[in-house]
Amino acid sequence: MLWLSCSNCGRRPIDEFVFGGEIPRVPDEITGPDERDFDLVWMYDNPDGLTTERWFHLAGCRRWATIRRDTTTDVQVT
Ligand SMILES: [Zn+2]
Repeated sequence: MLWLSCSNCGRRPIDEFVFGGEIPRVPDEITGPDERDFDLVWMYDNPDGLTTERWFHLAGCRRWATIRRDTTTDVQVT
């Protein structure tokens, strides 16, 4: 069973959450505002390792949580 920590409800099973997507990091070398917006919306890293994601606690407090997760182990990192 995978677990996520909600700031309102504490440690809860991942089945209570809905994945909202990763929060992408735009590379610093992309400087134009239009190019940064394009990269932010359309370019996903799908990293093998640490990532920052949004999860919605549907079966709990019904609020969004920002979670740092290691995709190689599926464990939340604080
Ligand atoms: Zn919650």
